[in-house]
Amino acid sequence: MPSNIPTLPIAILGGGITGLTAAWHLQRAGAPVVVFEALPTPGGAIGSTRHDGWLQEAGPNSLLEGSTEVATFIDAIGLGSRRLYAADSAKNRYVVRGGKLVPMPASPVGFLKTKLFSFRAKLGLLGEPFRARSAADGAESVAQFVERRLGREFLDYAVNPFVGGVYAGDPRQLSVRYAFPKLHALEQEHGSLLRGALKRRNTSGGPKGRIFSFPEGLAELPRALAKSLGGSMRLSSRVNAIRRTEGHWAVDTECRGENRTGKFSAVICALPADALTSLRFEGVTGAERLAALREIPHPAVVSIFTGFRREDVAHPLDGFGLLVPEVEQRRILGSLFSSTLFPGRAPPGHVAITTFIGGVRSPQLAQLDDAALKQVVREELGELLGVRGDPAFFNVRRWPRAIPQYTLGYARFKAIFEAVESSAPGLYIGGNARDGISLANCIASGRRLAVAAGATSEQR
Ligand SMILES: Cc1cc2nc3c(=O)[nH]c(=O)nc-3n(C[C@H](O)[C@H](O)[C@H](O)COP(=O)(O)OP(=O)(O)OC[C@H]3O[C@@H](n4cnc5c(N)ncnc54)[C@H](O)[C@@H]3O)c2cc1C
Repeated sequence: MPSNIPTLPIAILGGGITGLTAAWHLQRAGAPVVVFEALPTPGGAIGSTRHDGWLQEAGPNSLLEGSTEVATFIDAIGLGSRRLYAADSAKNRYVVRGGKLVPMPASPVGFLKTKLFSFRAKLGLLGEPFRARSAADGAESVAQFVERRLGREFLDYAVNPFVGGVYAGDPRQLSVRYAFPKLHALEQEHGSLLRGALKRRNTSGGPKGRIFSFPEGLAELPRALAKSLGGSMRLSSRVNAIRRTEGHWAVDTECRGENRTGKFSAVICALPADALTSLRFEGVTGAERLAALREIPHPAVVSIFTGFRREDVAHPLDGFGLLVPEVEQRRILGSLFSSTLFPGRAPPGHVAITTFIGGVRSPQLAQLDDAALKQVVREELGELLGVRGDPAFFNVRRWPRAIPQYTLGYARFKAIFEAVESSAPGLYIGGNARDGISLANCIASGRRLAVAAGATSEQR
């Protein structure tokens, strides 16, 4: 239990995974909370919908159990038995090279044999442990870092497509220190990625990075968290302003045309960067500096869910999906083989494929209308996977501001978060523009916020 349970509840702004996780931890610690979510459903970027036999994810498709924290959290919220790990048949991860799908090597022998990298590139890797480490100041892009340590081919055919798949981003723009802190730390601590990875492999006892979802999709997660909050979850409630007044915080919300003001002991902001910049802050010194967060790039992405009859797809779809390196000059960032990844995503005799278009690489393509997108997907999947004919199911989900980019110079935004928080005791800021973009990062962010606001630090 926290040492001093507040008499007033803590307001949590945003009912995405970050805000819901913070609320869950606080409630478990005995602290009253109220979560305000602008939309009528909880989950933010997470949204799973079932249409007949098809199960579509609007945003994220899977969660990585790369830390004990995620595993423990899923168990603690009662979803442990619902966890659905990625199928063994989804082990292959394809990368496009020369217009063909090449599996990413998964073992040292596979690496020696793979056609994804040339003999010269493989040989060059032997020198990696002897290359100097960079300065720790973080002023190096992901592309510079990878090219310096691993060589150009690894940048083009491994890291570039991976960055496209994770951030919908460009490795030339992202800061290695802020976008991939573990990679940066590996070099700083061990002087070499290979040496560091080997050492970590021998010493780490946590889960081995398995990917999972739930039978009804990732939305089971926010639904379970929102349910556990009961009446403390306020949906369709947009927060317009927060005010620091004598001994408490006032939060102005608008719910179905009705304006309300509530009193709270503290405020947790778990909002996307643009929502944070639109919020009116009163009595918070330096809050105007948050306006700078508008400069964090958030490229547009479209997620296109297509269903095909099995016989209309020549490829066995025996993998997680495919990623497209920029040098291949195609119009898609990549595709997930959704019905291979998890069961129950397509009706019998059919397969489901989720394709991502746009990102920093080709923002103009994210503006295409649905008919043009369908054409792009048909042509690209036709060439890459031997897909024929019209999809049996087709649905587009648009993300005009999909994912915050931790670009070079990101340290400036980090300093702003810290300065605004420290000038306003009782105000806590987290979410994917500050604490990392993955769902696992957001779960950690929610816990960090809860602990900062008074919950005890051990997981309950
Ligand atoms: C297309 C796509 C694919 C992705 N794929 C993956 C993946 O496979 N795996 C993975 O780990 N991550 C993935 N991500 C990233 C991950 O989904 C997000 O980073 C994460 O869900 C963000 O959670 P959040 O709670 O911080 O923010 P959000 O989910 O954005 O939640 C913020 C909430 O605040 C609400 N809000 C906004 N303004 C107000 C206001 N004024 N008052 C009240 N509420 C407000 C919003 O409605 C929203 O519900 C993906 C993201 C996208 C867009």
